[in-house]
Amino acid sequence: MVPAIGMGRRRSFQRRVLGWYALNGRALPWRNTRDPYAILVSEVLSHQTQIARVLPVYERLLKRYPSIQELAQAPLADVKAITDPLGYKIRGQWLHAAALRVADRGGVFPETIEELRRLPGVGRYTAGAVMSFAHHADAPVLDTNVARLLRRHFGVAVSARARTRQLWDLSAAVIPKGQGYLINQALMDLGALVCKARVPRCSVCPLWRSCAFFRRKNQAGARKTPA
Ligand code: SF4
Repeated sequence: MVPAIGMGRRRSFQRRVLGWYALNGRALPWRNTRDPYAILVSEVLSHQTQIARVLPVYERLLKRYPSIQELAQAPLADVKAITDPLGYKIRGQWLHAAALRVADRGGVFPETIEELRRLPGVGRYTAGAVMSFAHHADAPVLDTNVARLLRRHFGVAVSARARTRQLWDLSAAVIPKGQGYLINQALMDLGALVCKARVPRCSVCPLWRSCAFFRRKNQAGARKTPA
C-alpha cells in the first residue's frame, strides 16, 4: 500500500522538487535527445557507474555507432572494446544483443514497458527511463538515489520486499500529469546531489520542512533547522 499523500502535500512536493531542478539540474548530454537508442545507451552505461566515467564512453559509443542499426551490425568485440573499460563488462553484450533484437523487429524500437523489458539487460528501471525520457510517458523511474530520497522523505520503513513495492508506487504517485520527464530527472538529481547516501545535505534541500528523516534527526537533536 502507498503511504497516504494528500493532494496538497503532493503538489507542494512536486513544486519544490521542480523549482530546485530548474536552478540546479545537471546538464547531461542524454538530456538533449529523445532518441530511445541514446537513452538506452546512457542508462545501461550509467548502471552502478559514476557519471564522470560514463560521459566519454557514451560519446565514443554514439560517435562510432550513431544508430541502433549500426550497433547491431558491429562486431561484439568492437563494442566491448569501448564499453569494457567501464567495468561490469556484461553491458557491452546487453547493448549489442538489444540492438540485434531491435533489428529483428525491423528497426522499430519498443514503445511499451513490457516490450522494453524483453530486451536483454533491460529491467523495470531501464524500461521506465526509456519510456519517460524517450517516449514522453509518465512512467516512474526508481534508481537508487530516487529510492533513498523517497524512503527518507516519506518515512517508508517496512520489510525490504514491501518497501520496494511501496517505493515504486510512490515514485509513480509523485509524477504530475504530463511531467514525468521533468520530475524523474529532478528526483534523480536531487537524490544524487543532495540526498546523498552517507551524509544527506539537508541544509540545502528544498524538502526539509516535510521530510520524515530530517524531522526524526532534528528531534534527536542531531541537526539544526536550516535557515
Ligand atoms: S531533507 Fe535531507 S533526508 Fe530529507 S530528502 Fe532532503 S536531503 Fe534527504
